[in-house]
Amino acid sequence: MQSITILGATGSIGVSTLDVIARHPDRYRVFALTANSRVEDLAEQCIRFRPEVAVVGSALAASQLSERLKSAGLTTHVDFGEQALCDVASAAACTTVMAAIVGAAGLASTMAAAHAGKKILLANKEALVISGQLFMDAVAASGSILLPIDSEHNAIFQCLPLNYQRQPGNHGIRKIVLTASGGPFLDRDVATLDQVTPEQAIAHPNWSMGRKISVDSATMMNKGLEVIEAHWLFGAAPSQIDVVIHPQSVIHSMVSYADGSVLAQLGNPDMRTPIAHALAYPDRIESGVDSIDLTKIAQLNFRPPDYQRFPCLKLAFDALYAGGSAAAVLNAANEIAVEAFLDRQIGFRRISELIDTVLNRMPAEPVTDLDSVLAKDRSARLLASELLHH
Ligand code: NDP
Repeated sequence: MQSITILGATGSIGVSTLDVIARHPDRYRVFALTANSRVEDLAEQCIRFRPEVAVVGSALAASQLSERLKSAGLTTHVDFGEQALCDVASAAACTTVMAAIVGAAGLASTMAAAHAGKKILLANKEALVISGQLFMDAVAASGSILLPIDSEHNAIFQCLPLNYQRQPGNHGIRKIVLTASGGPFLDRDVATLDQVTPEQAIAHPNWSMGRKISVDSATMMNKGLEVIEAHWLFGAAPSQIDVVIHPQSVIHSMVSYADGSVLAQLGNPDMRTPIAHALAYPDRIESGVDSIDLTKIAQLNFRPPDYQRFPCLKLAFDALYAGGSAAAVLNAANEIAVEAFLDRQIGFRRISELIDTVLNRMPAEPVTDLDSVLAKDRSARLLASELLHH
């Protein structure tokens, strides 16, 4: 029986995780659920899944949740703040952590799970992008099992040799090929991109996701973050990672081998598949997702990405090649820019311009510990916020 903490339970990944868990009460029980501000959603999840602990973002939210749970007759312990997130991610009573907080806000708790040797289901790609080697070192030192939730990385994991995790190395791997849908603006006239609204940007053609990752998909920064994520997860050199646009999102990613074989994982675009895979690994369980019917899909299309249309993808590759603090700076500037776009402070094309300027003003420097990474994250946020008002 796995005892699970879901960091970010009220989000898109959190809700899909609970959907899979509910199908297998014999295998999984919920130890802790966390949210930031959506108290009512979290209360309903607590009433249904009866966790031992629930964590929210503020003292006010905690007192509202406590009231609500008490009146429903629950004894769930309610806490708030970053330390409480770290506590539920590293508690002895928890075996498995779904890391599904969005953005850098999830870094400390995901890191706490890594230090505590938990089985980590990693959705929060930003945490790995920021902390890179430090996170992978923590996983290796504690003996954590790290399983990717991002559908692309989960697909790659499934296409890698069985002994890959125990003996990382070449294994005849030529390339890791990440597929990308291209998002809602794949065929839109580039000259009109500055007129797009947040509503249009978050209307993803294939996937239903949170707001931030949806904008990242529209700029293709999401794919850029995934390139960096793939580098760390699979020990792949930047030149070994390719991106191909595949608008149907049926092939979730591929591994190309020295003998000319290309292995791909296919499925409907539903995050319950990678979630069920990682929860049950190495077993296979029912996820609620139907198998794809290839005769109905009829066509699979592919094309190379266009850096004119998607400058964020190029910025991410450049940051990966630059190494050191560059990826943390890229991520921080992106979080500020996306928030400003969602708040209608800047146009869509300004997102990449802002990140580019921040990266130019903060050249890559070596980072040796989490404090220096976090200092870079803070400086990049500050600089990006200042630039917003110029
Ligand atoms: P959502 O925005 O839907 O959910 C985010 C979750 O994090 C919510 O539970 C939210 O709480 C919580 N949260 C937000 N800010 C904070 C904070 N400051 N402190 C603590 N908790 C916080 O995001 P998604 O589920 O879409 O994405 C989560 C992660 O998974 C991201 O890193 C994303 O890149 C990754 N991912 C998502 C995919 C998807 O299909 N959605 C696919 C692959 C990866 P509240 O509800 O109270 O705001």
